[in-house]
Amino acid sequence: MSVRYETVIGLEVHAQLLTESKIFCGCSTKFGLPPNSQTCPVCTGMPGSLPVLNEKALLFTIKTGLAMNCGIAPFSRFARKNYFYPDLPKGYQISQYELPVCERGHVEINTGEGFLTRRIGITRIHLEEDAGKNIHEGAGPYSFVDLNRAGTPLMEIVSEPDLRSPKEASAYMRKLRAILRYIGVCDGNMEQGSLRCDANISIRPEGSTKLGTKVELKNMNSFKFVEKALEYEIKRQTSAVKNGEAIIQETRLWDTSTGKTHAMRSKEEAHDYRYFPEPDLVPFMPAREWVEEIKAGIPELPDARRVRFIAAHGLSEYDAEMLTSERALADWFEESVKLGAQPKAASNWIMGELMRLLNEDGISIEESPLAPAGLVELLKLMDSGTISGKIAKTVFDGMYRSKKSADQIIKEQGLVQISGADELGAVIDQIIAANPGETGRFRAGEEKLFGFFVGQAMKATRGKGNPAMINELLRKKLAGN
Ligand SMILES: [Zn+2]
Repeated sequence: MSVRYETVIGLEVHAQLLTESKIFCGCSTKFGLPPNSQTCPVCTGMPGSLPVLNEKALLFTIKTGLAMNCGIAPFSRFARKNYFYPDLPKGYQISQYELPVCERGHVEINTGEGFLTRRIGITRIHLEEDAGKNIHEGAGPYSFVDLNRAGTPLMEIVSEPDLRSPKEASAYMRKLRAILRYIGVCDGNMEQGSLRCDANISIRPEGSTKLGTKVELKNMNSFKFVEKALEYEIKRQTSAVKNGEAIIQETRLWDTSTGKTHAMRSKEEAHDYRYFPEPDLVPFMPAREWVEEIKAGIPELPDARRVRFIAAHGLSEYDAEMLTSERALADWFEESVKLGAQPKAASNWIMGELMRLLNEDGISIEESPLAPAGLVELLKLMDSGTISGKIAKTVFDGMYRSKKSADQIIKEQGLVQISGADELGAVIDQIIAANPGETGRFRAGEEKLFGFFVGQAMKATRGKGNPAMINELLRKKLAGN
């Protein structure tokens, strides 16, 4: 009998906070500026410089904790995490250890199959400073260090080992990203590294409650890589265990070019970092009223909005999930419904045509050249029969590309739907006359030829014929009436 293995995954997600200035000094957090241009004695770790906490960074962390159902610690403090690396000028990172800002929360994930909801525990959310960046490319036997990022406020969101598959891990990550973007504390830009993820993964025989030896995976900056790296690691660990080899507790790197993980170093234990309370910063005790005030400022979150979209607009689970994945997308949808669009139609157009065009241009919904009012105008023209559904796609494309109104495009390109029985009747008479063979076979019972006639009629009217009318007239005329 072969043993079946279960996967156990926990994620540590690092999110850069959207503050204007760094966590302990007034330097800008702007991305992409010349190396070391956004630095000062504090973030370059000069002796004698002292950190001062950025209140907004703490506020954002509390806001995140509340949005993820955590308890906010009444007493919290920073700790020094000591390690040596060239991108860390002080020789220690100011982080949190035994007293993080937030503890014991959870988020719900939807796992796709049947939209089952699973609750994933959040162990803690703490605040820390980011390190700089080493640059090894370039001429000569040199490496460089850019400290612009050093001191950027970073939140570490640590999950419980509640995730059971790579798919769940990426669903969890997506949910975190959605929440962070909804509450405006992180831009979620994975390419620029604003959102990064380390994963702890182990396997154990199904039914066992003991955790296996875990491996830490680093360097995953896309949902796709998270899934791929975890899938690879499950295979690697399963075959090792089946061959009687022991899993070594270590840190492994995901290599996007080979599609494999490889050992980087043996995993550090907490005691390797010699944590101790940060003596340069006082502990902090967020006032209850302040926490309440932050709570009141949290907008409707993706889960609540999804449930409301289903109840209020009659959308399917899938549509509601997709539309609420981004706040701006959900706003766009709601705006079009408010302006009179039928919810299902609006949802179809947004997720179909609009998303296709936005993806083609590589832009977000916020940058869409088309506003909800434009879609509503188009839908009204379809409802009134002015244009057919097929032509509507051409018009939509034109509206998006030229920013002209639907009316303007229809007039300019002569796209008004042909619904006149006389005009369409004449077209159909010609088609029947031009295709005596097909007509004969259809009349003899070859029903599937009906599509051929519809196609001919649409072609003859260059897609502008009213499809319902064409169907009706064809039925009549082919029957010989
Ligand atoms: Zn600075």
